[in-house]
Amino acid sequence: MTKHMILIKNGFVYDPINKIDGEKMDIAIKEGKIVDPKKVKEKEAKVIDARGKVVMPGGVDIHSHVAGPKVNAGRLFRPEDGRRQVRPFGQGLRAETGFSVPNVFATGYRYAQLGYTTVMEAATPPLKTRHTHEEMSDTPILDQGAYLILDNNWVIMEYLKAGEYEKCAAFVAWMLRSMKCFGIKSVNPGGDENWGWGKNISSVRDRVIYFDISPAEIIQGLIRVNEMLGLPHSFHIHCNNLGLPGSYTTTLETFGLSDGMPISPKVGERSQNLHVAHIQFYSYGGEDWKTFESKGDEVAKYLNNHSNITVCLGQVTFDETTTMTADGPFEYLLQSINKLKWINRDVELETSSGIVPYIYRPRSLVNAVQWAAGLEVALLTKNPWQIMMSTDHPNAGPFTRYPRVVKWLVSKKAREETIAKCHETLPNRSSIASIDREYTLYEVAVVTRASAAEALGISGFKGHLGVGADADVAIYDFNPEKQDPSREPEALEKALSRALYTIKRGHIVVENGEVVGDAPKRVFWADICFDEELEKQVLDELHETFAKYYTVSMSNYPISEEYLVGSTPIKITSK
Ligand SMILES: [Zn+2]
Repeated sequence: MTKHMILIKNGFVYDPINKIDGEKMDIAIKEGKIVDPKKVKEKEAKVIDARGKVVMPGGVDIHSHVAGPKVNAGRLFRPEDGRRQVRPFGQGLRAETGFSVPNVFATGYRYAQLGYTTVMEAATPPLKTRHTHEEMSDTPILDQGAYLILDNNWVIMEYLKAGEYEKCAAFVAWMLRSMKCFGIKSVNPGGDENWGWGKNISSVRDRVIYFDISPAEIIQGLIRVNEMLGLPHSFHIHCNNLGLPGSYTTTLETFGLSDGMPISPKVGERSQNLHVAHIQFYSYGGEDWKTFESKGDEVAKYLNNHSNITVCLGQVTFDETTTMTADGPFEYLLQSINKLKWINRDVELETSSGIVPYIYRPRSLVNAVQWAAGLEVALLTKNPWQIMMSTDHPNAGPFTRYPRVVKWLVSKKAREETIAKCHETLPNRSSIASIDREYTLYEVAVVTRASAAEALGISGFKGHLGVGADADVAIYDFNPEKQDPSREPEALEKALSRALYTIKRGHIVVENGEVVGDAPKRVFWADICFDEELEKQVLDELHETFAKYYTVSMSNYPISEEYLVGSTPIKITSK
């Protein structure tokens, strides 16, 4: 039985939000929150001896594809993946299936085994969000939230083109509230709409067919709307030209669009106005596949001069995986290269999507460059608070490989071993071999929990171990006094892969690397109204759009709160 109070004694604590760097101290838990250790008596509490162990806040993942129709389509589409890592029912746990697209139970359990407790679903089309909520509701242990895809939306493009930002903000507020979503997501702005015509976008200054608006106008418009609303998280983007040689120039142009734009959260304390997802996937130079090279160094150089931008890595892990994205035209390109099976979908008025299996091989020069590009950005960006761990699960590899990515971040030796297995031309196409930096455990704690909590605007109660925070704690069997991550990266990878303990809001959910229980989950969403009068006006105008173009009626479109398990509205008063 889990007691209401837990005392974690004498661990080496890494808690960057509170600037605690490996200090030996006690962490106390009462009623699901972190409390002052003096307030918890040893006799009344479950005592965990953490001597010689690492103690961190529960991990926070800012970008992972774990719930919704495209994830589920990926499962059905790849029975060969579903047959990997099967684990039957047992000890109160549900059956697990799948490696790169695990079922929802495996998703919750495996994140918990890594010491993660909060995971944001990276992309949900409004019309499909009911399904996304159904899957999040069924995902055990984790606190979650989802980003709503809004950039290729017909209504939004019309408002932004007309410069009607107030109306757009009123509409976005209604959409977030109706779909019970956390933030605004953009995927290949304009490109998805053009894909409906069999075309794409090749620069941020291109025009969207019929709507006659550019990606740059969509991006700046949505950053502006995001800040007018004061959302906890910044605008979150998957840039144009993902995956292509030379794409880094588009990335730098996209970065530049946020320059001088406001930063005004009404909840939380983020200091960025743009989050660029899976940066690895567009940090490439070269004219074509033959001259493909990493420009991770150029991307990092830009980040070093612009603190208003954060990125997550989308690090390649050299696995057989399943790519899935709302970037429909990109998936078309990918299947034309690897000739494997392909799903292509259109979501009326809103977005598109695609799914293609993919195998990343170190002997492929392109894949090796991709691997190097992600690490270059991580290692050459000086401020780790701008960096967040991700594999863009499952696109560059499954999230279960995060400990392996940490291994590469903390150890030059580990990188050299991998470089030796890569295509021999890699050193000519990337600076990875010459980089000496090795992350400290403190920096690992930043990029796996603290920076994401801050960028999401939830650092008041997530991603740290200060008094009043959610009692989400991970304990790892690694002794920083006796073990050196740089020289023993495999030991750290092993420790991070199977947490000794994971505690979620005061409940012990993992013990000795095994899942032992569940914890009440929450789904965070922005409960926001921009301007009641204006919203009424916008909805009146929308009735005609719905009647004319959508296959659903407007009254069936919103999702009621009762539909969610653990619904946790974040109240935001905009005006
Ligand atoms: Zn993604």
